[in-house]
Amino acid sequence: MNKRIFLSSPHMSDEGYEMQYVKEAFDTNWIAPLGENVNEFENELAARVGSKAAAALSSGTGALHLALRAAGVGEGDIVFCPTLTFSATANPIIYQNATPVFIDSNYETWNMCPKALEEAFEKHPKVKAVIVVHLYGLSADMDKILEICKNHNVPIIEDAAESLGGYYKGKQTGTFGDYGIFSFNGNKIITTSGGGMLVSNNEERIAKVRFWATQSRDKARHYQHSELGFNYRMSNVVAGIGRGQLKVLTQRVEKKREIYEFYKRELVGLDGVKFMPVNEWDKPNYWLSSITLTGKVKPIEIMKALEDENIESRPIWKPMHLQPFFKKFDYVGTEVSEKLFENGVCLPSDTKMTNEDLERVIKIIKGLWLKK
Ligand SMILES: *Cc1c(COP(=O)(O)O)cnc(C)c1O
Repeated sequence: MNKRIFLSSPHMSDEGYEMQYVKEAFDTNWIAPLGENVNEFENELAARVGSKAAAALSSGTGALHLALRAAGVGEGDIVFCPTLTFSATANPIIYQNATPVFIDSNYETWNMCPKALEEAFEKHPKVKAVIVVHLYGLSADMDKILEICKNHNVPIIEDAAESLGGYYKGKQTGTFGDYGIFSFNGNKIITTSGGGMLVSNNEERIAKVRFWATQSRDKARHYQHSELGFNYRMSNVVAGIGRGQLKVLTQRVEKKREIYEFYKRELVGLDGVKFMPVNEWDKPNYWLSSITLTGKVKPIEIMKALEDENIESRPIWKPMHLQPFFKKFDYVGTEVSEKLFENGVCLPSDTKMTNEDLERVIKIIKGLWLKK
C-alpha cells in the first residue's frame, strides 16, 4: 500500500515541548483537576490571540455551548448561524432549547453573507445572538457583520475553531465578537487530542464560564449549587499538550500556507478550478486548502482518485439547512452554500506532508484533466 497522506493530522513539535509539560504534570501529580498547565495555557492563548481572558474547556463544542449561555441565550430564543459549517456550530443552539436560523454564505468569503444577515434581521427582528464562523481559516467579512449586529444591538459569538493563527485586518479572528471559541480537536491546526477555549474581554463572564464548567459549585464547605452545572473543564495533562503546541502554531500556519501556494501554482490554470477566496484584508491560517470545480472534472472524481492512492480528501461541509436534523429550521439565502457544497473539495493539507507527498497528490489530480 502507498504511504497514507492525511487531510490534517496531529503534528507534535520536533522539540518535544508537549511531552515536557505533560511530564511536569505527571511529576507533580497534577494529572487532574486543573493545575499550572491549565492556568498557563489560558494565559498564553489569551496573550497570543490578544484577548483579556480565556477559559480552557473540554471541547470547542462545550465552549460554544457556554458562550451561548454567557450571551444569555435560552429557551425559545433565536440565534443566527451560518449554514455552511460543521454541525458542532449549530448543535449547542439546540442544547439551549433555542432556535437556529441559518444564514447563507457569499462567494467573496465562503462565510456568512452580510446581505443575507440583513435580510434575516428583517425577517426575525428578535434575535438573541449571532454566531459567525471562519471556515477553513478564512476570515468572515467582519467589519460589515460587526456593523449590522451593532445596529441591531445583538452580541456576536465567533466560532474560530478552524482559524487559530488567522488574522482579519491584523487581528486574530475570534477576538472581534463578544465571545470567541477555538478547538484543539485532532485535525485542527494545533491539537491537544481534544479540547477547546472560550475567549472574551469580559473577565467576569469568563470567570462565570469556569464556574459553570466545574459543576457550578457555590462557595461553601458542603456541595451547594444555585445554578445548573457542567463538567466541561480541560484537564491539566491535556493543557500541557496545548502549551507545547502553541509554541509551533506560527510554524504550522507557515506550512499550511506553503501547501496552499503549491496547490495554487500547480492547479490554477486547470479548466473549472477556483481556489477558496483569500481577500486582501485576510491573513488566513490556511487550515484546509479548498477548491471548487465547475468544469469537466467533478469533485467526486478527485476524491475517488486520491482515495485509490491512500490519500485523504473530503467534500466542503454539507450546509445545515440540508441536514435531516436541521431542515425544519428557517434558512435565509440564495443557495451559495449549496453550490459550494456541490462543487467543493478540501485537498490534503497535512503539515507533515513532504514535497514528494505534494507532488504525488498533484500528479493524480492533474492526471484527471489529461484523461478528459
Ligand atoms: C471542530 C469544529 C468545532 C468543534 O470543536 P470540537 O473541539 O471538536 O468540539 C466547532 N465548529 C467548527 C467550525 C469546527 O470545525
